[in-house]
Amino acid sequence: MTRDQLTFDNPKERYADLRGEAQEQPFPGLDRDLTPSADHGELSYRGTGRLEGRKALVTGADSGIGAAVAIAFAREGADVALSYLPEEQVDAQRIARLIEDAGRHAVLLPGDIRDHEFCTSLVSDAVQQLDGLDILVNNAGHQVYETDFENLEPEQLERTLTTNISAMFWITQAALPHLPAGSAIINTTSVQAYKPSPILVDYASTKAAINAYTKALAQQLASRGIRVNAVAPGPIWTPLQVTEGQPPEKLDGFGENTALGRMGQPVECAPAYVFLASPESSYVVGETINVNGGLPTP
Ligand code: NAD
Ligand code: MG
Repeated sequence: MTRDQLTFDNPKERYADLRGEAQEQPFPGLDRDLTPSADHGELSYRGTGRLEGRKALVTGADSGIGAAVAIAFAREGADVALSYLPEEQVDAQRIARLIEDAGRHAVLLPGDIRDHEFCTSLVSDAVQQLDGLDILVNNAGHQVYETDFENLEPEQLERTLTTNISAMFWITQAALPHLPAGSAIINTTSVQAYKPSPILVDYASTKAAINAYTKALAQQLASRGIRVNAVAPGPIWTPLQVTEGQPPEKLDGFGENTALGRMGQPVECAPAYVFLASPESSYVVGETINVNGGLPTP
């Protein structure tokens, strides 16, 4: 490993050679087919023992931000259960191999989190196969742009709301009886919660809801010793963006509107999740860490 996340360098220049390119994939998309390839930490994330012996369930862990989180958690010493859609098996298997290369246990749990019953079995299977659970990362998400609000189909609205919000309630409810004091719940929200795009009305609304969900639940669960926090990424290079997350022409130069003038890589989000999962953030409750290249937030 020549360079890792702890290498001292200029953040404007880190990954500046990777530019987004116009492209399209059918939903849910594959990291395997993303051009240029994203960095999930395969060669660049170095563990420092911060999650030794922990047991994590990560949704949307096959690709993008969730994949980077899964790799980082494993290298920090955690066993990881991966939730993803069956169509993403090839991506999930690649991440599972990296987890096993780190000497940790990987559990593959494909299925559709829009189904309440599946969410319940997802958690019980994770608990059974990990022999417990003390980290839950609610990261799966759905984003499809619609330029004309009147054309937002009920099916898309339902898919966005159920994937991004309802499933987060269901999975967290199923997990709670298993989470001991000291556990961490981390929700992926977005800069879209504060700086919504006109073409992402449904998606941005769910991300604002996730912020309120995180802050409300954090206050309720603190008395049980369970901390709830959120990470709000900005423009990160993942399959979500090329499966109609953005119009293809916006992918060329994706992230140039940030203060750093570039898009972010999934691995650049991972340390925020590691920090919030680890006991070192013991007094951090109901907080949002923005990982967005310098887009101003409230
Ligand atoms: P991604 O496509 O790699 O990850 C999203 C994952 O969600 C998919 O891999 C899939 O496994 C999962 N998913 C979607 N629908 C599902 C369903 N019905 N059942 C089970 N799993 C389902 O893209 P990503 O960008 O890494 O997205 C991860 C999270 O980050 C999402 O919540 C997204 O909203 C958020 N986010 C992304 C960006 C960005 O620029 N990429 C910015 C802010 C927030
Ligand atoms: Mg995926």
